[in-house]
Amino acid sequence: MQVKVAKSAGFCFGVQRAVDTVYEQVEKGMRPIYTYGPIIHNEVVVQDLEEKGVQVLNSQEELEGLTEGTVIIRSHGVGKEIYDLIQRKGLHCVDATCPFVKKIHRTVERESQAGKQIIIIGNDKHPEVEGIKGWCSTPAVVLESPEQAENFKMLKAVPLCVVSQTTFNYKKFQDLVEILDKKRYDRSVVNTICNATEERQAEARQIAGEVDAMIVIGGSHSSNTQKLFEICRNECKNTYYIQTVHDLNLGVLRSTGLIGITAGASTPKKIIEEVQTRCLN
Ligand code: SF4
Repeated sequence: MQVKVAKSAGFCFGVQRAVDTVYEQVEKGMRPIYTYGPIIHNEVVVQDLEEKGVQVLNSQEELEGLTEGTVIIRSHGVGKEIYDLIQRKGLHCVDATCPFVKKIHRTVERESQAGKQIIIIGNDKHPEVEGIKGWCSTPAVVLESPEQAENFKMLKAVPLCVVSQTTFNYKKFQDLVEILDKKRYDRSVVNTICNATEERQAEARQIAGEVDAMIVIGGSHSSNTQKLFEICRNECKNTYYIQTVHDLNLGVLRSTGLIGITAGASTPKKIIEEVQTRCLN
């Protein structure tokens, strides 16, 4: 059995930075420490941090209930109202929003204030999209499917500013922009898809096309891992989605010649290495 691991598998720059930020705060002895939402979509890392005293805030109400401590904003970012709330409560804010997401916040803030209608290509329920919406001075429109783009109608002659969730599929993004283009609105498009995602997706597609079986590692709630899985399964029917080495079914893989491995942006290197080692032994 041979194994090929994608070079782009695992933590991207923004996630690495956010996780490092939390460990730095732990080392500094800041107490109590909270992250606004799990720092990454990976139960193993979140549990390790919990053991070190880092608590996860699951809602705005939980944040409102705090009277002291440090609140860390994760790489997905949050809307302006959350920063305002942290400040109002007199809490210490440590902002680990990925700079690429921050750039989208600045763009939509500026363009919506200039009177443009913001269109976000992405998943309306994703926390990153929630955060982006929270920087628009007028309500943003979120489009995820071709049907939604076809049905979209501007009631007023206002120019559009189109941005994307950083982890959105590039090809789908282009398709939706093309649909909007047919409507001939005055529009500007800012491709805010992160290179880390594009590179990971392209490499996953390439490896999945070469191997007999493909393993995609990531948390069950991680949307970028789910997208990687879709891409790999299109290329290779024997694609398996696992969270840790314990989910690996070696019985199924044993008869396989070449195995490919990739992992979502929230998967620690340690887990990737464990899966690789297990496949080889
Ligand atoms: Fe930042 Fe890109 Fe990672 Fe998102 S995928 S956190 S934008 S580096």
